[in-house]
Amino acid sequence: MAIEVTGGVLVNERGTVVTYRQKCEKCGYVYDYNKTTIVPAYSTRSARNFTCPECGNYQEVSMRHYK
Ligand SMILES: [Zn+2]
Repeated sequence: MAIEVTGGVLVNERGTVVTYRQKCEKCGYVYDYNKTTIVPAYSTRSARNFTCPECGNYQEVSMRHYK
């Protein structure tokens, strides 16, 4: 299985535990610290949305588990 991340970059995945960094899809800004969340198998999880400190874009964050 693999994880597709919207509004973030995948750092690591171990089963359903996903480590990622928030990323602004508009300007490409990436936070310099990791966040971890659980993504249930074969489903989509919304993570915490954020406002980009660089360009002010309101970025939605979600993760999708797929085969
Ligand atoms: Zn931005």
